[in-house]
Formats: sequence, structure tokens, C-alpha cells
Amino acid sequence: MENLTALKNIKFDIDVMGMDFFRNKPVIIAGPCCVEGYKVYRDIALKVKEAGASALRGGAFKVRTSPFEFQSMEYEELKIIKEVKQEVGLPVVSEVSDPRDVEKAADIIDIIQIGSRNMYNYSLLKEVSKTNIPVMLKRGMAASLKEWLYAAMYIIEGGNKKVMLCERGIRTFENTTKNTLDLNTVALIREEYNIPIIVDPSHGTGNRDLVYNISLASIFAGASGLMIEAHTNPDSSFSDKEQTISIETLKLIIDRINSLR
Ligand code: PEP
Ligand code: MN
Repeated sequence: MENLTALKNIKFDIDVMGMDFFRNKPVIIAGPCCVEGYKVYRDIALKVKEAGASALRGGAFKVRTSPFEFQSMEYEELKIIKEVKQEVGLPVVSEVSDPRDVEKAADIIDIIQIGSRNMYNYSLLKEVSKTNIPVMLKRGMAASLKEWLYAAMYIIEGGNKKVMLCERGIRTFENTTKNTLDLNTVALIREEYNIPIIVDPSHGTGNRDLVYNISLASIFAGASGLMIEAHTNPDSSFSDKEQTISIETLKLIIDRINSLR
């Protein structure tokens, strides 16, 4: 693909909290879909760390398809992330959807997530390209590989080379599962490009019973890491509970992946 050779040659040195993020490949990012208050988030963070994850997820600026679904309080949750990360000592991955929030979020968040619905938000891509914070770019739900890689190039060309991709499933005619996780593309990215590729088996399947097997399949396909929705009480999750696994299952996944090395 034209003009994408940079993605083969760049050395993606992604440092988080002063360390190479991919030193313990595959990396595991885990936590709730969204931040649900200080106590619950802190509790999940401690358990996720104990289970062996390398980073904590949790949405503050939630992008919801329906205006009738749970809506986050944004800056309140950002404050909670700040407190919890200081206490627990795990780096945090969280989504930013408005270019005007990037600067403020970049003071707190360790890896800025660009969500599927915003992969084509070029003003947001340009804004994060001006920061020095690692960015995890999720695949648009109907984006081709080429469109996705070009979106990554917007960030890289704008001056921020700390970019990783995240495959989270695409829309196909098959709607029994929430999305169709495109592991072909994961294997292809691993083969042809140098950019780290994370897989999100939670949004990729939409079904917590599938997350264990699909996590392993993603690693075998060549993923550099996983981002998994996990909760101390999955059924009480404010959002995406049907795809959220327990901490016990998370630990099984992490232990199994570690045993492969
Ligand atoms: C998320 O990871 O919190 C999320 C909203 O996922 P996506 O953008 O892939 O739908
Ligand atoms: Mn979610």
C-alpha cells in the first residue's frame, strides 16, 4: 500500500510510566467498560493488578451509540482515574473523543484510546498527534485495513510515533455475535508492519463466554496484547455487562498466556 512503508520501518518505542510498554509481550490491559465511581474502580484496579495485567482500562468520556444508555460524567471520572492510578500504580488506558479534552486528559491518562466511532475523526487524530502520549487507535467498525492504517499515519505524520492499533471487530452480515473479529488482519499486520496490534476480544465478540478462547486465538494470530473488559461483579457493570468477564476468568487467561512463553 502506497505511503505506508513508514509503518514497516518506524521503531515504535512506546514508553509508559518510564518503561517500554511491550517489554512483557503480550501485554494485557483489563478493567471495566467505564469508571463506576471511586470505590468500585479502585477495587477492580487492585484485582486486575493482582491478576497480572500490565494496564488498567476504564472509560471516562464514554461514547454511547444510544442517548438512552448510561452516559458518563466525564471530568468526574477523570478525577477518579487520577486517584486510583496513583494508589494502585497501574498505567491507565482511556478514551478521549473530543479534541478539546485531549490536553486535559493527557495529564492523567497514560494511553489515549481513540474509539471505533472516532477513527475517522481527523481533527481528533491531529490533536493527539501533537501530544507525546501513546495512542491506541481502535479500528472503525466498517473501516478497511487501508483506512485504518491511514488514520494511524495521521497521528505519526503529525509528530507522535507512539501509536498502537486495536482490532475490535468489524460489521459483517453475521450478527449473531456483536462484531466479527478480524484475526486475518491481525496476522497480516504482524507479518507486514512493525506497528503493535492489540486485540479487544470483549467488543470483538460481545459475549463473555467467548472471551477466553478468542483471547488465546488472538495471541496465536500474532496480537501484541489484549484489551479485556473485566469487573469484580460483571453483572453489575454499568455498560457492556454481557461481554464483561470476572477477575477469575481474567486470571485464567493471563496465566494461560504466560504459560505459552
Ligand atoms: C471501548 O473500548 O470502551 C469502546 C467503546 O470500544 P469501541 O470504540 O471499540 O466500540
Ligand atoms: Mn465497552
